[in-house]
Amino acid sequence: MKKRPVGSALLGVALMLLLGNSAVCAQSPAALVTMSVAVDASAAARGILHVHERIPVAPGAVTLVFPRWIPGEHAPDGPIVNLVNLMIHAGDARLTWLRDPNDFYAFHVEVPPGNGAIDVAFDFVGAPVGFYSSARLSTRNMLVLTWNKVLLTPAAEDYRRIIIAPSVTLPANWSYATALDGAVQTGPSVHFAPVTMEQLVDSPLDAGTNERRWPLGSIDGAPVDVAVFADTPEQLDGADATIAKLRKLVAEMGALYHARHFNHYTFLLTVSDVMAGEGVEHGQSSDDGVNPGDFLTSDTTRTANGDLLAHEFNHSWDGKYRRPADLATLNLQVPMHDDLLWVYEGMTQFYGDLEGERSGFFTAQEWRDNLALQYAILDTTTGRATRTLYDTALAEPIFIDEPATWHAARRSADYYSEGELMWLEADITIRRLSGGRRSIDDVARAFFGGTSTGPTVVTYTRDDIIAAFNAVQPLDWRGFFVTRVDDIAPHPPNPFEAAGWRVAYRPEMSGIEKIFNDVNKDVDARFSIGLTADPQGVVRDTIEGFPAAAAGLAPGDKIVSVNGRAATEVQSALDNGLRAAEQSGTLRLLILNGGVYRDVTIAYSGGPRFPVLERIPGRPDLLEAVAAPRSGT
Ligand SMILES: [Zn+2]
Repeated sequence: MKKRPVGSALLGVALMLLLGNSAVCAQSPAALVTMSVAVDASAAARGILHVHERIPVAPGAVTLVFPRWIPGEHAPDGPIVNLVNLMIHAGDARLTWLRDPNDFYAFHVEVPPGNGAIDVAFDFVGAPVGFYSSARLSTRNMLVLTWNKVLLTPAAEDYRRIIIAPSVTLPANWSYATALDGAVQTGPSVHFAPVTMEQLVDSPLDAGTNERRWPLGSIDGAPVDVAVFADTPEQLDGADATIAKLRKLVAEMGALYHARHFNHYTFLLTVSDVMAGEGVEHGQSSDDGVNPGDFLTSDTTRTANGDLLAHEFNHSWDGKYRRPADLATLNLQVPMHDDLLWVYEGMTQFYGDLEGERSGFFTAQEWRDNLALQYAILDTTTGRATRTLYDTALAEPIFIDEPATWHAARRSADYYSEGELMWLEADITIRRLSGGRRSIDDVARAFFGGTSTGPTVVTYTRDDIIAAFNAVQPLDWRGFFVTRVDDIAPHPPNPFEAAGWRVAYRPEMSGIEKIFNDVNKDVDARFSIGLTADPQGVVRDTIEGFPAAAAGLAPGDKIVSVNGRAATEVQSALDNGLRAAEQSGTLRLLILNGGVYRDVTIAYSGGPRFPVLERIPGRPDLLEAVAAPRSGT
């Protein structure tokens, strides 16, 4: 522990040199600090947690830091704005704290002589808005406790040297679930076995009034279950079909990787009309949420979120166990480098959708038509003409709370969907070159599966990925990635035609796009006139070079009427207008913006257009082999 500006470039470079590209986290070094954190969540239903820490310190200058770079969120978005009522005592003396002028996540105090510990008290208050986990804390019926929100710790270069004894006090009659071990009930509080700060931040706790658990099977002897927290008991009934798919998912992931890197695994899932949706990976659990709250019972909501649990589960192998070296930082104050997210997130997006299909969350057609949709969206993303896929990964932190407008020009987290297409292209390439004997599943099993362990981190670099692919199928993989990741690519990877399929445009939306748009409340005319909107008709995006932008439409314009008829249901009003435009060659809109109405005439005669995949006659269907389940169950 030393007083120094944390988060400095110098410290980041030192850590990267220290990390190298080998296994660095398999063994924890000796403890530097052993402290306790007690979270009084008895007022969780009001949206406030009372936190008390006892931290051994030496007298003199002490710096405490609040976690800034949050694992799984890949960004410096630790929600410090919600930390309030901070008081620090040494014995009976209240100490004056001073925030670091160069690092707003650091607090300095001077501990008087004769004191061997400080008591730190603060509150964490909920905010039902924001992005990622800052929007999730509690409702009247449930709590999502991610420990990075309730920790002020001494600044340490290696957070595995901070050992923390955690405890929580819950409202009466609330039950909880967590991957933390060694729970002992003491009065109203639950105490868990001390763990490293790394493991504590990686082990969220969900609690609530309406909980139900289901065992889902096991992988190499390690049990997997799901703990679901709901607004009402009824949201937990009638879940048999969904639970059966989750059991299939566990079997499929075992059949894919043949090994696991957890001692036990729990999906911590909120299904709620109040709590925000979420998906953040952890090694032995995942912080998952679906809003609306009928995920267990509605086919539509389940399908719209059909990749969520597969995606987060996949991260236990790809992301938590195998991790890019420059993402595996040794504390949460130094910058993470996101340049390999096209592997970490891109391949997980590929497997999230694919294992969702192999487990029955998607039909094969829904899986295929979603791939076509992602291709088509990426192909109308004009920002790709000036930004590489690499840059979308590297610059993720500045896009984490990007506005909903001007998406196509901006190009944002494309390493998810474009990564998915690239890894499918890699899979099709291996299958073709090996005559169907090998596939990307062999790379995944060797690289991310390995031999079963408990939670541990083994880091990698791009060279390690290239070597893993060459071990399965010799090819110029370095050049393959340069072309798709580092170079400006006018079009996204097209893995379809070599697999016997092609992207085609039809006048009706595919089933899966309709489900996504209904649940996500999107209006889509992007593939015809280059426009998206919200259900009230307020334009989110106009794509430069497409007819809507050429007619002067822009984000913020509200579509009031189409061809003289009120646009009460905006998607169908636009679709009807686009069908009429096939004859007339124009689409007439009444637009409201800034209290002023204006007429806009769009020149267009192509009709509604929505992407699907269709077979190329006479070519072998390789997507069928990709989609085939691997487990016998
Ligand atoms: Zn992810």
